[in-house]
Amino acid sequence: MDYYSTNRRAPDVSLAQALLQGQAADKGLFLPRQYPRITREDLLDLVGKSYPEIAFEILRHYTTGIFGDDVLLALCGDAYDYEVPLEHVSCRLHVMRLDQGPTASFKDFAARMMARWMSVLMEAEHGELVILTATSGDTGSAVAHAYHGVDRVHVVVLFPLKEVSDRQRKQMTTLGGNVWTIGIEGKFDDGQAMVKRAFADPDLSSIRFTSANSINIGRLLPQAVYYFYAYVRLADVAADEQVVFSVPSGNFGDMMGGVIAMHMGLPVKRFIIATNANDEVPNFIRTGAYRPIVPSRVCISNAMNVGHPSNLARLINMYGGQMDEKGALNEQPDMDRLRRDIYSVSINDEQTRATIREAYEQYGLILEPHGAVGWAGLQRYLADEVEDADPLCISLETAHPAKFPEEIEANIGVVPETPPSLEGLEQRIEDYPVISTDYHAFREMLLERFGR
Ligand SMILES: *Cc1c(COP(=O)(O)O)cnc(C)c1O
Repeated sequence: MDYYSTNRRAPDVSLAQALLQGQAADKGLFLPRQYPRITREDLLDLVGKSYPEIAFEILRHYTTGIFGDDVLLALCGDAYDYEVPLEHVSCRLHVMRLDQGPTASFKDFAARMMARWMSVLMEAEHGELVILTATSGDTGSAVAHAYHGVDRVHVVVLFPLKEVSDRQRKQMTTLGGNVWTIGIEGKFDDGQAMVKRAFADPDLSSIRFTSANSINIGRLLPQAVYYFYAYVRLADVAADEQVVFSVPSGNFGDMMGGVIAMHMGLPVKRFIIATNANDEVPNFIRTGAYRPIVPSRVCISNAMNVGHPSNLARLINMYGGQMDEKGALNEQPDMDRLRRDIYSVSINDEQTRATIREAYEQYGLILEPHGAVGWAGLQRYLADEVEDADPLCISLETAHPAKFPEEIEANIGVVPETPPSLEGLEQRIEDYPVISTDYHAFREMLLERFGR
C-alpha cells in the first residue's frame, strides 16, 4: 500500500519509508492512498478477541509485505500488555480508559507500536537508528518509555532543566539502557533548535537520525485500533449499530485514528471532538474560516493547549481539501460532509472543572481534565442533537486521574489512586548529563556515543 503527501508534491512511498522519514519531502504529511475495508463479517470475527488480537487483525492490512503476520502478532502482544477498561457509566454511556500503559496516557498505544515497527525495520537492514527529540515534558517520557529496551533503536531526549516537573524528569531519567536523557541549561525552544540543527548537520551524517513526533503516520494507524475494540465489545455488531465517540483533542492525532477507522468501515454515527479554550477547530467547522491561535491558550488540560493542530492538514485532506505546512487553507474541504461526521465543541476550564464535579456526583465517575473535556462535549451533543435518540456513546479518557491529583482533589475531595506504572518513581535512580545550549558540545557528545 502506498502513502501520499498532503502537499501532493512528493512521490508516494511505502509504509516502511513513511515510518523512517516521518514527514514527506515536500513538508506534507503522509496518508494511505487506500483504506482497507473491514466488513461486518470481519467485525463479527473480532468479537471475543483480546486487544492484541484485534490490533493484529486491523494493523495487518497495513503491514502486509513489510512484516510477516507472525512478527506483527508478536509485536502486538508485546506492545499491548496492559488493560483497556471500558467503564459502563449509565444506560448507553461508556468511558474507555486509555490510561493503563507505562506513562498512563493514550499516547502509549501508538508510541509503543511505532517503536517496535522501527526496530523490526532496522533488524532487516542490520542498521541502527537514533531517535532525537526535545521535550517540554510529557511527550519525551512517552517516547522514552515506548523505545526503552527496544533493539537497534536509541533515544536521545533533550529537556529544559527548569521547565519540567520533578515527576516528568524522573519518568525519563530513571530508564537508562538505550534511553539517553540530557538536561539543558536553557528553554524548550533551545532544545528544539539543537535537535533541528543536528538533523541537518553534515558532520553527523554517519548517524541515522529520525524523529518520533506525532506527525509520523506510525503514530496514527495504531490509534484506529481502540475504536474497533470498543465497538466490538459494546455495540450490536450483528445489527450494524452506529456509535458516537467523544474525543478530547489537541493535535487531533487521536481523532484521526477514529476517522481512519470510520473510513475502513467502522459504523460511526458521529465523532464529537472536544477542545479546551483553544477553539480554532470548532470555529473552523462552524464557519469554514480557519484562524490559528498564537500563542496557544493555557488551560488545565495542558496536553491539548494547541493553537494550530499538526494533524488538521490530514483531516482536511480526507474531506477533499488541502492545507499546507504553514496552515494555509488552499482548498476548502467538503464542509457538509465534515459537519455530518464531526460535531465539534470547545470547553473552557470552568466548564471542565464543573464537569469533573458533576460526573463524580452523578455517576461516581472520576475524570481528569482531558477526559472531562471529552465528557462535557458528549453532554453538550446529547442536549443539542435530540433527534439522535439514545445513541450508544463512548467517551475517551486519555490520561490517568493520578497524573492530576491536585485538580481532582480540589474538585471532588478524592485523591486518585496511583497506578503501578506511576509508583515508586521517588526511589528510582536518576542518571543524566547536563549541558549548556552550546550546539558544538552537543554534537561532540553525539559523535562520541553514536559516530563511526
Ligand atoms: C496528547 C494528549 C491529548 C490530545 O491528543 P491529540 O492526539 O493531540 O489530539 C489529550 N489528552 C492527553 C492526556 C494527551 O496527552
